[in-house]
Amino acid sequence: MQKIGESISKTARLMKSRVTKYAIVAVLIAVVAVIIATLANAYFIYHSISLETIMRAQQENITLWVIDAMPFLFALWGQYASTMIAYETGVMVVDQTHDLREQATSLEHQAQYEATHDPLTNLPNRILLRDRLDQSVHAGVRDNKRFALIILDVDHFKEINDTLGHYSGDRLLRRIALRLKGTVRDSDTVARLGGDEYALLLRNIKGNNDVKVIVNKVLKAFQEYFLLDGMKLVVQVSMGIAIFPDHGKDADTLLQRADVAMYVAKNEKSKYAIYSPKFDSHNPKRLTLMGELKQAIDNQELAIYFQPKIDVCEGRMKIQGVEALARWPHPEHGIVTPDEFIPLAERTRLIDDLTYLVIKKGMQTLVNWHNRGLKIDIAVNISPSTLLNYDLPDVLTGFLANYDIEPSFITFEITEGTFLKNPPRALEILNKLHEMGISLSIDDFGTGYSSLAYLRKMPVSEIKIDKGFVIDMLENESDAVIVKATIELAHNLGMKVTAEGVETKEIALKLQELGCDRLQGYYFSKPCSEKDFLSWVESRIKKRL
Ligand code: C2E
Ligand code: CA
Ligand code: CA
Repeated sequence: MQKIGESISKTARLMKSRVTKYAIVAVLIAVVAVIIATLANAYFIYHSISLETIMRAQQENITLWVIDAMPFLFALWGQYASTMIAYETGVMVVDQTHDLREQATSLEHQAQYEATHDPLTNLPNRILLRDRLDQSVHAGVRDNKRFALIILDVDHFKEINDTLGHYSGDRLLRRIALRLKGTVRDSDTVARLGGDEYALLLRNIKGNNDVKVIVNKVLKAFQEYFLLDGMKLVVQVSMGIAIFPDHGKDADTLLQRADVAMYVAKNEKSKYAIYSPKFDSHNPKRLTLMGELKQAIDNQELAIYFQPKIDVCEGRMKIQGVEALARWPHPEHGIVTPDEFIPLAERTRLIDDLTYLVIKKGMQTLVNWHNRGLKIDIAVNISPSTLLNYDLPDVLTGFLANYDIEPSFITFEITEGTFLKNPPRALEILNKLHEMGISLSIDDFGTGYSSLAYLRKMPVSEIKIDKGFVIDMLENESDAVIVKATIELAHNLGMKVTAEGVETKEIALKLQELGCDRLQGYYFSKPCSEKDFLSWVESRIKKRL
């Protein structure tokens, strides 16, 4: 503040000294004018220039008096003008600085708000919840106070979402947020952790009974149906509860244990469960997996399986590329499939590191193949949260430079949910990736709520029809209609179409007949290790596909 004040008075002084300089020049010009006028008067009226004639001219010629006054008038006017200009400059600079400071503060607040709140429900997000949990832990230790963390998950939300569509699903999530906020005190926090998962942080809890009172309020709030598009919807929830300090003395442990309790409540259909150490034996795999997954990623132990994507080009088939699919070779559980650990990684924010590892290992393998003359593409699955992270383009640029790979060999498979989470940001990042030369593909097409308006805006070059429509398309007429319509839609938008889940020759031929560009599925090959993939390629080359 003091600095700004100093700079304003410096600017004002500068302006003042400039105006003074011009005023001095004006005074000098006026003095010269007085001298010339006096000399001219003396010469033309008295026909000689001497001290006497100059004095006479000055005494007898009244017009000279007016000219004589000019230097004084200019000096006075200069002083006045410089003071006024300096004052006005000061006022203008103060006004502008004030406006700029207000704008900067409001932008800062907005950015801070967006980083810590869920855009759909306006509730605090996972980051802010963690922050409040940390604060509560400090306060709890200092004042010897207890608090409770409840993780609440909506039962069968996926089915609701699939049936009603994402738009109604989102509205339901907002309504749930409103009901939850109504059940707690103002000092408590209701947060959205992502998807259909919420958290309640209840401060100043005396015993388990206090928690049960609130849990019962929440259950009561959900007894009332939701009215959505004229439909009466009864929504059920499962809650897991962890209490500080009994069940954990830090934010991570509390979050993990409330999560374990929530799964127990869900499995036992008991609506809610307060954490107990015996739950760990109910769910040993899940609990240990959480800790081990981070280690497996840090130690780069995750493996990649490859599944070919076949180009159907004028009746001939050729390998266009592979999809990289993560696998976790676990010492006790064997190969753990992504359905088990990807949701876990997404919940614990490990998903970014996992994705970067898959991209890195995928690129490494691709370089080997390219060196051997197998010039094919690689597709990597990118979760919505990783795609919406501004880090992705920079991390990728580093990898591309390191492995010296043309970006056109890389495809990112993203789901429709990516656009819905944060459309402007998704568009910004997708455009950046597209400009870098990366191909983009919409995965699991048909399972989410896709708006044509979004689809046309996104720089996407491929649509992958979800395997759910492909597997039964010969028996199920409505699946066949969807497949056919999707192929036409994609072609109208200038995109390629890949059908996944091609399990039989008949389906492959039918898809070819419908004009599908690429095929992927067990009929050609299951996802397999690099070694098995290369043997498959060799056998295919022998058989000429
Ligand atoms: P996705 O992207 O839809 O991948 C295709 C899945 O369909 C793969 O399952 C593949 O094994 C399976 N599939 C392929 N052809 C057939 C077929 O003909 N019939 C049947 N029934 N299934 C077929 P997978 O490998 O278990 O992956 C499951 C999901 O896990 C993937 O679905 C993807 O969403 C996710 N995932 C896998 N790896 C990654 C990864 O590195 N990052 C992220 N974010 N997600 C991944
Ligand atoms: Ca995929
Ligand atoms: Ca898929």
